[in-house]
Amino acid sequence: MFSIDTWNETNAKIAEAAEKAGRSPRDVQLIAVSKTKPVEEVKAALAAGQLVFGENRVQEALQKFPQLRDDNPNLELHLIGPLQTNKVKEVVANFDVVQTVDRPKLVTALSKEMEKQERNLSCFIQVNTGGEIQKAGVELNDLQQLFDHCMENTLKVEGLMCIPPVDDHPGPHFALLHKWTDRLNLKSLSMGMSSDFEIAVELGATHVRVGSALFGSRPPIT
Ligand SMILES: *Cc1c(COP(=O)(O)O)cnc(C)c1O
Repeated sequence: MFSIDTWNETNAKIAEAAEKAGRSPRDVQLIAVSKTKPVEEVKAALAAGQLVFGENRVQEALQKFPQLRDDNPNLELHLIGPLQTNKVKEVVANFDVVQTVDRPKLVTALSKEMEKQERNLSCFIQVNTGGEIQKAGVELNDLQQLFDHCMENTLKVEGLMCIPPVDDHPGPHFALLHKWTDRLNLKSLSMGMSSDFEIAVELGATHVRVGSALFGSRPPIT
């Protein structure tokens, strides 16, 4: 369950990690990951002052957020899960940021649809820093090429996003992602979840995606 105390604590931990790294806490955005949680939980977070949310399933987000977005014009919704091209239309209409751009076909589809709807969503390229076979995200070897493809299609790439392998220490993955944002001259770094957001902030995260630490544990994926 969402609680203001936990939310305050999380914000304080982010601020502390930022200051430790000589950064301003204002440069780190907390994304509240509300997947599997009911609308009431999102409303409780909104009431506390949380405006940025992340969902990883398009269908679920479409059931929960359209009304909330109408009622809260400042709400910002990030897609943090895999995106199939047949869902691009709904995503462009109902999200503000797509964090999971990972292949040329998706870049082209997003770009076309944004032009059609006259909407300009911010995007992150998801990078498979661990080179895991089953995992979403572009391989490091293909990142530059995908980035170039985004530029050719005038997709607004704000930064990079990663989900490190569960069994690895996340630090080296976060450092690697940071190096690549510098190389590509990007400003945003989405990395860090409930278990490692402080490490991520120390290593330069501008966006941390925190779910269970704010809303409590989720049922295991079946
Ligand atoms: C679920 C999810 C999170 C949040 O995970 P927690 O461990 O609950 O904080 C962050 N990022 C992505 C991509 C997710 O799917």
